[in-house]
Amino acid sequence: MQPSARILRACVDSPFCSSLRVVVLQLVWFKRDLRVHDHAPLVAAAEAGRVLPVFVHEPEVQQADDFSPRHAAFLRDSLDALHTALGTRGVALLELRGSLPDVFDELCDVLPIAAIHAHEETGNAITYVRDRRVRAWAKRRGVPLHERPGAGVVRRLATRDGWHDRWVATMRRPCAPAPEVLVGATDDELRRVPASLRFARPNGTQTDATTGPRARQRGGREEAESLLHSFLHERGEDYRRAMSSPSEAELACSRISAHLAFGTLSNREAYQAARVRVRELRDSAATVAPSGRASLVRWQQSLVSFASRLEWRDHFTQKLEDEPALEHQPFSPLYADVWPHEVDMSRLDAWRTGHTGFPLVDACMRSLEATGWLTFRMRAMVMSFASHYLWLHWRHAGTVLARAFVDYEPGIHWMQCQMQAGSTGINTIRIYNPVKQAEEHDPDGTFVRRWVPELAALPSGDLYRPWATPAMVQLMHGLRIGGDYPLPLVSPESAHGQARDTLHAVKRQAQHSGESARVWKQHGSRRTPLGRPNR
Ligand SMILES: Cc1cc2nc3c(=O)[nH]c(=O)nc-3n(C[C@H](O)[C@H](O)[C@H](O)COP(=O)(O)OP(=O)(O)OC[C@H]3O[C@@H](n4cnc5c(N)ncnc54)[C@H](O)[C@@H]3O)c2cc1C
Repeated sequence: MQPSARILRACVDSPFCSSLRVVVLQLVWFKRDLRVHDHAPLVAAAEAGRVLPVFVHEPEVQQADDFSPRHAAFLRDSLDALHTALGTRGVALLELRGSLPDVFDELCDVLPIAAIHAHEETGNAITYVRDRRVRAWAKRRGVPLHERPGAGVVRRLATRDGWHDRWVATMRRPCAPAPEVLVGATDDELRRVPASLRFARPNGTQTDATTGPRARQRGGREEAESLLHSFLHERGEDYRRAMSSPSEAELACSRISAHLAFGTLSNREAYQAARVRVRELRDSAATVAPSGRASLVRWQQSLVSFASRLEWRDHFTQKLEDEPALEHQPFSPLYADVWPHEVDMSRLDAWRTGHTGFPLVDACMRSLEATGWLTFRMRAMVMSFASHYLWLHWRHAGTVLARAFVDYEPGIHWMQCQMQAGSTGINTIRIYNPVKQAEEHDPDGTFVRRWVPELAALPSGDLYRPWATPAMVQLMHGLRIGGDYPLPLVSPESAHGQARDTLHAVKRQAQHSGESARVWKQHGSRRTPLGRPNR
């Protein structure tokens, strides 16, 4: 035990304890930052005195349409791991339930809470409004609320100029060390917490209602560390080459996204670990045998790409931080009524369940349903398909994906949904052709055959356009397109052409260039670590 913690513990246990620092509690409000490493609010609270770590299960958040059983399962794993991490440091995590700030208000009635420490969160509209309510309540009640930046996202940012340099500086700052020992509330104090506020922690393994525990990624710090380590030291060499391949990306990508989203790992930790690895590789360059040089170059290129993406994470989240309405509204009002506001449920369901008649799209959606993850290129393709071929509103398609991605992160998600749909006004309109994508990224059909087994017997030439498979070939393989596997929901050529014409017509409007300039000034990236513009 550290000397200061030992003294504090002795004071708390003493009947004569009188120092205010010892009497009061510092509430640490855990949200999407479920770790003890690189957690500045926890460190600040520990320096100020006794710590009361709290996580609140809020019905508004957990019953929202962007929260799903798979998020609940990942959250459970991560909270269990946090219980252990805090427990070994001497304090218990208090899991509560109810709306905020009411829960804090009741807690303050029974416990001597001196201050609340938390990370700033750039979440969805629900947590945005909740945070404002908590801030107003804290002011009224006279409880200091200390919010600290969680990553490279800047609150009240005046201009995007210089954002990149600021981000790099933030990422290079030392990570807050995990406190070795914490002093918490006494048993007597904890008994005062009303039963109505307590969250009953479930026993046993949580299952994801759709897939069971095995098929999804597990939460928790240990998993996060293990994924980051195996990516940086074993799996990452082919990242740059394989990241768009639906079969290879599963292993070649880092897979840390859900951990970053739930905060079992910080972006800074990932960035710094990548830098250490890059340095190691650079140092080994002088001694590497000629046969190993190509591998070294692949590693280095892959890690540069990886670091860029860690910056993109905050770059996109910064947009939502600066303009929270972007979760629901397009970047430019010119796109407000381009897609129908009424949802076509039969199209949405066919897309969600992987029955559109387009094999790569269906394989992606079925694999997503089973695993909760897709690589970037396939996410972009399914989103483009929903917005362009099926002409579904990006909000409707985006909500399906938000529930399905274990790593759902509003700041990245809604910005990407809009970008792929083409409603930002500053990005090139890109309408993915699902047949071409299949030919490029699944050339031997491994992925399609795995997830759309009814097509497995088809020769590669017919696999991506099953609707064009001659009746005789279908018969030979015991397959009927339009029976065993659906005919395409829309005609690929006319859907593509209509989407292109409609979006380009919006672009040709007189106000479009002025609108684009406005959007770019507020949200456009000025540069990336590679020096390439990423808008
Ligand atoms: C329509 C759509 C929706 C998306 N929704 C989400 C989402 O809800 N949550 C999410 O984390 N990512 C989202 N992405 C971005 C990206 O696809 C995922 O971050 C990535 O596939 C996660 O896998 P990984 O951790 O192995 O990523 P890696 O390729 O190993 O990248 C490392 C980290 O960098 C960040 N990152 C990677 N690509 C991007 C990107 N294009 N934009 C911003 N950050 C990036 C992520 O935090 C990721 O964990 C979305 C992309 C699209 C096209």
